[in-house]
Amino acid sequence: MPIPSNFQFTQGNLQDYVDCPRRFQLRYLLQCTWPAPQAEPLAEAEKRMEMGQAFHRLVYQHTLGIPADVLTRAVTDPDLARWWHNYLTAPPPALPSRLRRAEIVLSAPLSGYRLVAKYDLVAVTPGERLVIVDWKTGPRRPARSTLESRLQTRLYRYLLVEAGTPLNEKQPVRPEQVQMIYWFADYPTQPEYFPYDTGQFLADSDYLHRLVAEIGQHNEAIWPLTPDERLCLFCHYRSLCARKITTGPLNDLADEQATALTDFDVDLEQVAEIAL
Ligand code: SF4
Repeated sequence: MPIPSNFQFTQGNLQDYVDCPRRFQLRYLLQCTWPAPQAEPLAEAEKRMEMGQAFHRLVYQHTLGIPADVLTRAVTDPDLARWWHNYLTAPPPALPSRLRRAEIVLSAPLSGYRLVAKYDLVAVTPGERLVIVDWKTGPRRPARSTLESRLQTRLYRYLLVEAGTPLNEKQPVRPEQVQMIYWFADYPTQPEYFPYDTGQFLADSDYLHRLVAEIGQHNEAIWPLTPDERLCLFCHYRSLCARKITTGPLNDLADEQATALTDFDVDLEQVAEIAL
């Protein structure tokens, strides 16, 4: 099955491919919906997703200039209230303040397709620093090695170099100007920092081009299923793939699964894009 020429690669669909090619095929090419819940208890998982999205909305509104006390009045859920308090009292330190763009979408060409990412926040001192902030509301703080290996960390920094010129006083972004910060709503004083450099940028470019080329070469009716059945534990397609395992409790999510569960799908229709 060929990839549609207008297909947009994101950190989410590329991570799905890396985790399991069959999941990528079912979800993005066949657009197959399947009813298995991702985590049990379902209500708890859904509530965490909802509160995570509500937290992102609050921070977005705050970045736009709505006063914190006005936003605070609308917060009633105890988890959301705790995260909001943590954000107000212990935000990522020393962020550039000259330009802050929340929920911004950047895109750039990649091997005949488009590479797209929505950033929670990009804070910029034009010509000097461009800092990506990603708010995480997952149940645990993932290990640095888990975050470092995720597509999000590689793709977000790479794409900011490729497509961030409009944020940098129209000057090309050098990899050394870029930094990514993961900020954890339940661990606000323990953010994780990822600097960037030209060597890593070139490695990421090579990796992403090879990954997209590999995806384009699949022509099987059923793409390979992951051999790692732990990745099936929270996948919607378990019964379709005859992976006879039951859904796990939310607190049993491995780091990378917890991270994925709270990485919200990009709604590209709802946000402004800067495209090259
Ligand atoms: S259930 Fe497992 S093998 Fe099937 S799509 Fe999901 S991750 Fe892949």
